[in-house]
Amino acid sequence: MTRKLIGGLAAGFAMLAGAAMAQDYPTRQITMIVPFSAGGPTDTVARLVAESMSRDLGQQVIIENVGGAGGTLGAGRVATADPDGYTLLLHHIGMATSATLYRKLAYDTLGDFEYVGLVTEVPMTIVSRKDMEAADLKGLISYVKEHADEVTLANAGIGAASHLCGMMFMSAIDTPLVTVPYKGTGPAMTDLLGGQVDLMCDQTTNTTQQIKGGTIKAYAVTSPERLAIFPDLPTASEAGLDGFTVGIWHGIYSPKGTPAAINVRLSVSLQKALADPNVIARFAELGTTPSSAAEATPAALKEKLETEIARWKPVIEAAGVYAD
Ligand code: ASP
Repeated sequence: MTRKLIGGLAAGFAMLAGAAMAQDYPTRQITMIVPFSAGGPTDTVARLVAESMSRDLGQQVIIENVGGAGGTLGAGRVATADPDGYTLLLHHIGMATSATLYRKLAYDTLGDFEYVGLVTEVPMTIVSRKDMEAADLKGLISYVKEHADEVTLANAGIGAASHLCGMMFMSAIDTPLVTVPYKGTGPAMTDLLGGQVDLMCDQTTNTTQQIKGGTIKAYAVTSPERLAIFPDLPTASEAGLDGFTVGIWHGIYSPKGTPAAINVRLSVSLQKALADPNVIARFAELGTTPSSAAEATPAALKEKLETEIARWKPVIEAAGVYAD
């Protein structure tokens, strides 16, 4: 038998095995890894979606938080997991930025994963501890510039959305600040509430409740338009940082080699979750809208990841900031 024929037969058997596996899938609990701490914005998005997907799949989709190194530890865990559909990753824009920010990544971002679909895009908010002296963004910028040696800016590590937004903020105001990394912005929020850190740029999925409750101060949203949930909160552009917009997109991935039929089954379940009135209502309360059915597909996420890696690469290289 020629090598080509053997290769062809092996690929054929793998496809058949994959199709057989996909037919009964899922027969047990699925683990969705969130590469940040429990209680943070990525965790919130994942739990809402996982709950609804569990009902559709007839098996529990449980969340495991594997925080650290800006989301790269959790992503690395999924890269080496069995490609059987029982380990998934829900990650955000950091999946794309880490590909350049980390020169020694333990996995190959475009080579080690398969795609399920896009989940949502969440705006960010520039927030501070409650007793921060400044009343608006211009006042905050003046204060920060005068106290640059003391003002602390929380983030969830290099590669996290909060890191990206914080970098953009420091660059926009041309002032480096003291950054404080956490395993997620869940614990960073606890310290912001306690006044142990001064500032953070974080997703509305983590800040909305505190902003509404008056337990932290909000200066701006990073969306191009104001949000329905905060009609009085200006956009960063309106408040003095012209063109400062950032949206944090989220996607679900599986390890490379996961049968296509399983990724498609998961994306159908994801689409149903994103059309679930409870999920839509909860997302709306948190200032975000679910991705469309066309976006919650393997092809759309693959394209998004590739485009975003290409978009951020020159920006990161020009800034010369690396994690290692
Ligand atoms: N999404 C947050 C960030 O990137 C981290 C988290 O979800 O805890 O900063």
